[in-house]
Amino acid sequence: MNLQNKNSFSNRVLSWYQLHGRKNLPWQQNKTAYRVWVSEIMLQQTQVSTVIPYYQRFMQRFPDVKRLADAPLDEVLHHWTGLGYYARARNLQKAAQQVCDNFGGKFPTTLNDVVGLPGIGRSTAGAILSLAQGQRHSILDGNVKRVLARYRAVDGWPGTKAVESQLWALADKLLPESDFDQYTQAMMDMGATICTRSKPKCDDCPLQQDCLAYAQGRQGEFPGKKPKKAVPVKNTIMVLPMWQRQVLLYKRPPAGIWGGLWGFYEVDSPTKIESTLENLGIKDFQVQELEAFRHTFSHFHLDISPIIVHLKELPANRVSESQELWYQLDNPANVGLAAPTKKLFSTISTNI
Ligand code: SF4
Repeated sequence: MNLQNKNSFSNRVLSWYQLHGRKNLPWQQNKTAYRVWVSEIMLQQTQVSTVIPYYQRFMQRFPDVKRLADAPLDEVLHHWTGLGYYARARNLQKAAQQVCDNFGGKFPTTLNDVVGLPGIGRSTAGAILSLAQGQRHSILDGNVKRVLARYRAVDGWPGTKAVESQLWALADKLLPESDFDQYTQAMMDMGATICTRSKPKCDDCPLQQDCLAYAQGRQGEFPGKKPKKAVPVKNTIMVLPMWQRQVLLYKRPPAGIWGGLWGFYEVDSPTKIESTLENLGIKDFQVQELEAFRHTFSHFHLDISPIIVHLKELPANRVSESQELWYQLDNPANVGLAAPTKKLFSTISTNI
């Protein structure tokens, strides 16, 4: 081994593993593809210390792929209770059934076949085959993405295809020539214990000497965050015809925002106020503007400019296409109100 090899990325990672890596995890004992596979699925979104007792109970009840495939789903879910993300358990059992039906009960040994099973992506497949069978595959779970993005200062959010491809290429390039099982475990362990999301322990890290994020003091910037979408802003004018502490509402159509709730008529421009009032049979009135406010939905902001239309007399009865109601502020009807409607009622009650 020449000096450069000794100092290569993978050799440093492997040497670190010898001294500090995890070697006594339950799925590292009596290692089979089935045992490693179950652990990998449990470890998605969940920490090792949480997983261990669940894993042990699961293995006691479902010690092999056949017993998992044949079990009632309720029982599989029962053994998953508390781990969350239950689609993982359902997929695990579906995949076990496929292993029995299509592979004679033996866990498949090619990346393509493993990726074809429910609930297993490229990284999980690579992890199972390298950890259980010592095959040469790279992995790119959340922890490894963080290590590599920092190590090479890879900009951008890994959720985009371009950044993800860059990280996969890097993961492939850095693979060692042998010891793939230990290397895979080492990368996962380094991400979980050294190159942690906040406060990475760079002084204990074998990659410190050529880590770009460390050199630039930019560890917190990698991996890049998911870009926040600009939330669009819409505007509306809410028209509140008022007669002796009664306010006119209509029942909104069942589809769309505030579907089926009672609210105020709205216009999108001040030029339409008069014609709207005319349609409501309102002729003699005085307008009072209230303070505008913002109501925020998950996908847009709605800036609301309310106006009170003080009526001099009640409009004559007319035929309306909508269901309408004169809502009495002092004797409120028991109807469903949209949040801004409620807010406006409390503003009116205190100011009028
Ligand atoms: Fe992560 Fe620090 Fe190691 Fe760089 S030096 S890989 S930032 S722990």
